[in-house]
This record gives sequence, C-alpha cells and structure tokens, in this order.
Amino acid sequence: MAESKDYYKILGVSKDATDEELKKAFRKLAKENHPDAQQDENSKKQAEARFKEINEAYSVLSDKNKRAQYDRFGSNFEQAGFGGAQGGYYSNGFGGFDFSGFGGTGGIDIDLEDILGSVFGGGFGFGSSKKKQGPIRGADLKYSMNITFEEAAFGTTKEINISRNDKCDTCNGTGAKPGTKPTTCDKCGGKGKIQVTQNTIMGSFSTVKTCDKCGGKGTIILSPCEHCLGTGTIKKAKKISVNIPAGIDDGQAISLRGEGDAGKMGGSPGDLFVVVKVSPHSIFKRKGFDIYADIKVPYTKLVLGGKIKVPTLEEDEEITIPEGTQVGTKFKIRDKGIKNIHGKGRGYIEYNVIVDIPKRINDKQREILKQYADLMGEEVQNKKKGFWGK
Ligand SMILES: [Zn+2]
Ligand SMILES: [Zn+2]
Repeated sequence: MAESKDYYKILGVSKDATDEELKKAFRKLAKENHPDAQQDENSKKQAEARFKEINEAYSVLSDKNKRAQYDRFGSNFEQAGFGGAQGGYYSNGFGGFDFSGFGGTGGIDIDLEDILGSVFGGGFGFGSSKKKQGPIRGADLKYSMNITFEEAAFGTTKEINISRNDKCDTCNGTGAKPGTKPTTCDKCGGKGKIQVTQNTIMGSFSTVKTCDKCGGKGTIILSPCEHCLGTGTIKKAKKISVNIPAGIDDGQAISLRGEGDAGKMGGSPGDLFVVVKVSPHSIFKRKGFDIYADIKVPYTKLVLGGKIKVPTLEEDEEITIPEGTQVGTKFKIRDKGIKNIHGKGRGYIEYNVIVDIPKRINDKQREILKQYADLMGEEVQNKKKGFWGK
C-alpha cells in the first residue's frame, strides 16, 4: 500500500473544515497551480503534479462519504475496498486533461466546469458538452401560490394543478416502442463515452468525452415509443393537495419531495417547491409571528381612561385604556398573533395608540371644550370656524 496522503494538509485546511472552506481553499489553490497559468515548462510540470494532488484531495474531501472513509482509513481506503467509482463522469474539454483519471478516485463527482469556470472566467476553452452520464434526476419545479393573511396565520390545505414530466406509461420510461428494446450504441460500444487524444503544449492528453451519438446513454432507440417520442417522459397534469402549515410567511416555500419532474435513465424525480405569496391584511402588519395595528382612541378616552374594543385575527377583544394615556403608547395581547411555525405558541398583537380627533362637533360640544381650554389656560380659536369664513 502506498503511503496515505494528508488531504487536509494538501488543501491547507483543518480537519473540521466546512464544505465552504474546502471549496474556497480548492478554488484558491487550483487558480494558483493551474498549469496554464505558469510561465515555463518546469513550473508547468510542477504545477501539473500539484494540481492533480489538489484535485484528488478535493474530490475526496468534498464527498461526504469519501471523506468519512478517508478520515477512518486514510487515502488508501479504495484499496481496502471501500471506495470505488460512484456517480458519473463529467466530460469537459478542459485543457485536454482526463479528469476522470486523476488520483484514481474513480470519477469526480463535482462540477469542475462550474468551479474552474468561475475561477478562470471560462477563458480556458471549456467544452460546452458537459453531460453527466447515467441516471439523471428530474427537474425541480416551482409553483407560486397566493394565500390570505389568515390562511398563513392558521394554516390551510389547497389543491393545485401542476403540469410535470411523468414517466411514460406506454414504454415504462424506456423511450422504446413496446416490444422493442434500446440497442447498444455502436459508436461507444455502450460505454457512453469516447476517448479523444489531443495534442497540447503540455503534451498529449487523452480526453474522455460524452458519446455524441447516444448522448452518453450507451444505447440508441431504433423504434421510439410513439406516445412519448422516445423521451421516456410525458407531460401530465396532476392535482396535488398541499398542506400549508400555520405560521408560514410570505416568500417561504413548502417542498414536496419527489413531486417534480420524473428522472431519466432511472434517476430519481425532482422536488416540487410551492412558494407562498401572502396577501397583506387590511389592519395588521406582520413581523415574524407578531402582528401590529394602530388603534384610534378618542381624545377624551385617552384623558379620562376607559375601555375600547380592538380587532384581533379572531373575535374583537376589550382592552382598558388607563387615564392619561399618551399617543404612541403600546398595548399587547399575548398569544393572539401568528402561530409559531417551528413550535408551540403564538406571537402577540401589539396595538399602537393614535388619537381619534372628531372632524365635526356641535355647538354644545364646542362650548364645553372652550370652557375646558379656558380652565387649562389655553388660547383657542374664538369663533366657530366657517361661521365668518363662508
Ligand atoms: Zn413512451
Ligand atoms: Zn454512444
């Protein structure tokens, strides 16, 4: 057995590095050590070796299972029979390398084009033929649903109609006409990949590319299913009942596992995300699980005190306004807000006191108020407004 390599040391990260830290370290090192970025042949060679090493380390540590095995058994874990090829290859035209051969980890399950493309700005001649071979997971679907403020507060169940790609029943998802079978691709011999040798400034490299004849499937359908035209999936309308939990907020989504598009070549289906749009309430504003409203209280009640009725999400409640209450005073009713979606209980309602000034008063009211103003030593408008004015 070869000596176990310290992948953490290679990437310069600690043993408890997060995925994000790993990705960051990898991006930085990949950029520094990219062979194409070196000036002379010697440093190109060194960089190439280092690049392979970085890549090997990252491909193992970025994979949860491989990382766990590595942590237990070291870099020789594959020889111990634990590793092995998983998933597919990414074939890309990157610099003519055969990435799938790097480090012998049997296929790199990361999107190198994504990572390196963002590092180098895509200027290194990446092929556009990024295709994953093997099972393809179905696409995730998004559905926008409008609900009322109360439905968000108390929860509801809604039926939605979605149109999604489902497995074709006629061919059972194979894409081949019933009674026929897909045949092995003659171009790649069923491997789904073809090897292309390229001469580059760094020498000859063999690139593994997705077979263009079968699109990586390894098989060709000679008599396509007439129902789905050989795709294996068909658009179907489906009614789905969606449970909206009490407490959901605007912009939040409910994920329904496996309710997205059907997968291809044995891949699992995607998920359906129902994103809720909550319409505003005529009285209440929501912040988290608490709700807020302004309440108008007559001046006299603020001065003298008294009871007022206030709205809630259910029946009105009565609150007591103490004598001498100021505008801007807040009153709370606990446990009458929105249900906490994560656990027990409800938020509160907070009322903000604003003053209710009458727009019109009669002569008697005016007289009494004037007397009151006199007692308070306040100078007020002497004449009835509008009397002389009109
Ligand atoms: Zn079909
Ligand atoms: Zn083929």
